[in-house]
Amino acid sequence: MLNLGHLIDGKDVQDNSRVQKIYNPATGEVSKTVALASRKTVEQAIASAERAYPAWRDTPIQKRAAVMFRLKALLEKNADKICASLTEEHGKVTDDAMGELQRGIENVDYACGVPELLKGEFNRNAGPGIDSWSDFQPLGVVAGITPFNFPAMVPLWMWPMAVACGNAFILKPSEKDPSAAYLVASLAQEAGLPPGILNVVNGDKEAVDTLLHDTRVKAISFVGSTPIAEYIYATGSAAGKRVQALGGAKNHAVVMPDADLEMVSNAVMGAAYGSCGERCMAISVVVAVGDSVADSLIEKLTPALHDLRVGAGTDKNMDMGPLITAEHKGKVVGYIESGVSEGATLVVDGREKSITGSNNGFFLGASLFDNVTSNMTIYQEEIFGPVLCIVRVNSFEEALNLVNEHEYGNGTCIFTRDGEAARQFSDKVEVGMVGINVPIPVPVAFHSFGGWKRSLFGDLHAYGPDAVRFYTKRKTITQKWPSSGNLEGPSFSFPS
Ligand code: NAD
Repeated sequence: MLNLGHLIDGKDVQDNSRVQKIYNPATGEVSKTVALASRKTVEQAIASAERAYPAWRDTPIQKRAAVMFRLKALLEKNADKICASLTEEHGKVTDDAMGELQRGIENVDYACGVPELLKGEFNRNAGPGIDSWSDFQPLGVVAGITPFNFPAMVPLWMWPMAVACGNAFILKPSEKDPSAAYLVASLAQEAGLPPGILNVVNGDKEAVDTLLHDTRVKAISFVGSTPIAEYIYATGSAAGKRVQALGGAKNHAVVMPDADLEMVSNAVMGAAYGSCGERCMAISVVVAVGDSVADSLIEKLTPALHDLRVGAGTDKNMDMGPLITAEHKGKVVGYIESGVSEGATLVVDGREKSITGSNNGFFLGASLFDNVTSNMTIYQEEIFGPVLCIVRVNSFEEALNLVNEHEYGNGTCIFTRDGEAARQFSDKVEVGMVGINVPIPVPVAFHSFGGWKRSLFGDLHAYGPDAVRFYTKRKTITQKWPSSGNLEGPSFSFPS
């Protein structure tokens, strides 16, 4: 059986003292294993990155950008292969995998413009005969730790911009579905990225903790669940690193009485159940303003959910694939049981869905709960599965307060035809990414991505302009040259 190793110094490194099984979630079968890096292997990757860094930092910027241009072409050429790997290990349907990869490629696109993005700031004659400028210099060796749900896109949020800025990068992908990240990193070598500038170490907590504590690693980007994000932020910051740690979510869609409910029902279907609900920007709560909104939405959603096509992602006719692991499926089923026992109304029960042609896959149909209240576990916690909760409220203010009181603040949206309500909502809501009649407001690659509250620990958001700042440090240079006839004596006052 194939064992996926690590990519260090441009070579495949096998360190098989500990390995983990990788499942095809559509069949429940083990498709390969992945090596879990020891501390020694991670240190080998850090040492390789440190060796490669100085020459790469001094490589002319347009040559670094040229690698990104070539990588973009290679990603497009190999899209089918990358997406097949996403479907095989994550389970997402092919169209969804294509969408994920496309959003990842857009980050490479943005990194192609790095000469423009790193231009810096300059003032001539900031003082008499004095020029001043700010330069944005790379940090050195930086690392990224990524989650299972976007195995290609989230790594591409991080390392293309980091290396385009002149850093060396160590990627630790999710051990549940690591192949796509490895494949993309191999394409980066083919595009001309020098060995050591992007090393991939597969692994678990041991690998992560080594990256967190090693002083040669200057910054950490993390995307994953909130408890781990908080741990990464606290540990990495205490070790003196720059850290951005993006966490979990509970994204609310507020539906006003004037909204186009046909549009809302279609939008919510995709946003709640796409990728089996395993998206940090998935809509998991509909806040219906008024009972008639809730009743009509339930009337529209119920038959559509029964008709949802659930099956292997390789079948082009499917809308929704399996969950990532049997364990995760068990957790989501546990939430459905908890919703029932806490008194919510289970309108559609995904546990009853029969899946054609797949007995052992980790499938679960779509579930819909009505009459959910804010004290219930299914409202408070991130389920990360195909379960949508409807909370009924009586006013816009009640809806806004509900969203603002939730501990997470990743994404949200409002459906309305009322410009004033939309404007008030986007102004007052305590959430980092807001959609107005847009259910999944994931910012495009030339903006930045990040939540508020317990959905992000750190200051700078992921990708886009914030990534340029995250992966560089500002140096401000003040310069004066001796010129004839203005020799000054010593001055003891503060320069002004
Ligand atoms: P996770 O937190 O379990 O794992 C993420 C990464 O952390 C993996 O690489 C994993 O190996 C590592 N890790 C896990 N446990 C660790 C530990 N104890 N110590 C050190 N490292 C550890 O998350 P997941 O299940 O892979 O992904 C799903 C979660 O990610 C959801 O909560 C989802 O909302 C979140 N997510 C957030 C965003 C965002 O942008 N905010 C995007 C995608 C996913």
